[in-house]
Amino acid sequence: MTLAFDPNRPATATNDLQVEYVRHPISGKVLESRRWFPTQAEGQLHALRPSLRQSGAAQPFTCFSCGHPVILKKHAHGGHYFAHKDKTAARQANCVFLEKSSLSLEDIDRLRYQGQREGPRHRQTKEWIRRIVAADARFSKPEVETIWRTFDDGWRKPDVATSWHGFPVVFEAQVSNTYPAIVAERTDFYRRQGALLIWIFDQLPDQHWRTLHADIFCANHQQLFLVDEACACAAEENGSAIFRSYRLRPEVVVDPASGDGYTCLTAAHVEEQGLVEFSQLQLDASAQTAKQFDVNDEQRRVMHKVLCSRVQASKTNWQELEVDIRNIIQRKASIPYATVMSWASLVCAIESARFWQPIGTRYSNPVSVLNLVHDSSPTFFAHLVHTLQRLHVDPTEHHGGAWPKRVADFHAGRYKGGSLPEPHEGSIALLAWLYPN
Ligand SMILES: [Zn+2]
Repeated sequence: MTLAFDPNRPATATNDLQVEYVRHPISGKVLESRRWFPTQAEGQLHALRPSLRQSGAAQPFTCFSCGHPVILKKHAHGGHYFAHKDKTAARQANCVFLEKSSLSLEDIDRLRYQGQREGPRHRQTKEWIRRIVAADARFSKPEVETIWRTFDDGWRKPDVATSWHGFPVVFEAQVSNTYPAIVAERTDFYRRQGALLIWIFDQLPDQHWRTLHADIFCANHQQLFLVDEACACAAEENGSAIFRSYRLRPEVVVDPASGDGYTCLTAAHVEEQGLVEFSQLQLDASAQTAKQFDVNDEQRRVMHKVLCSRVQASKTNWQELEVDIRNIIQRKASIPYATVMSWASLVCAIESARFWQPIGTRYSNPVSVLNLVHDSSPTFFAHLVHTLQRLHVDPTEHHGGAWPKRVADFHAGRYKGGSLPEPHEGSIALLAWLYPN
């Protein structure tokens, strides 16, 4: 006898209209929908359909690309398919499954790799991470692909899980373009667990940074981490976890636009790369960051230096700098004109020595900017000498002249034949902020 509706009959899939890969809510597995439907009975799918449509379903199936919930639909010819519950949300998340013909074979392969978490590059990257973590006794023994269970939040299988002085840290290898939704979902998961997820790359993004690389990079204060054989060996030799780091640090550069002879500073970014010890990183589970510097703080310092150069060059009103200083040191009372201008001279002198270019003036020689502090702002001269020392900037490498004598006099406590006035006390905190160690 043939049933009009046979719940035990294997289900069929439609050929298109599909969200091709979905994530199963309980196992966390990635399902390829066209292969998965035939493993299900008609009755099972029809039992599942209503629960997926419930608003706020506790355990929704989600689209593997964009991470938004999917629902089950059935074509008039009998085939099943997954569709986004909210097409607008999927579109906003740039889901790859919206345009049915847009997936190349390469895209599909990449999805499969991510779904099954395999591939030689992924395995190699994971092994480098494991060696780096194992080399440092401050980490607990690394656990590779061990299931991380939670009471109420399901489970994940991090590439390498460990803890740093008891603080849980998880490393995930980022070898291809993991979908943004996956990155966001994993980041949220570990944040809720009070753990820090750090993405580790096996190579620098090429000149065409994928959106995702840029996302991870910017979320982590313009810093990302890589591993390779040399890096793993360095860690093992030093008994200390070492990663390769790539950074874009906010920095000032000489503004090429100033054509009137005054040299001002402008904001830019400089590329930095090299090995970094894990112990040097500031870790933050709630922000999900592991960083060598805070990009917003760096940006703030850059803007302040730019302003100092513009005030010194009379391109910006001195009151603007006065307000900026008071904002930084959180001072209510106003600051006198002479103090503000001395501060601008000091910053310009330090920057002139760093870049060995005259900053904020029309002088042709950078040492003239340093001498200006000596001659016109004696209470700032001690700050100049000390800060250059602290930054390991030595103007005598470039210039003899009167400068070495002035520094020698300073160390002997002499100034212009008399004694040196006390350094301006109000600038100490500001200097420590502008030029941190
Ligand atoms: Zn989607």
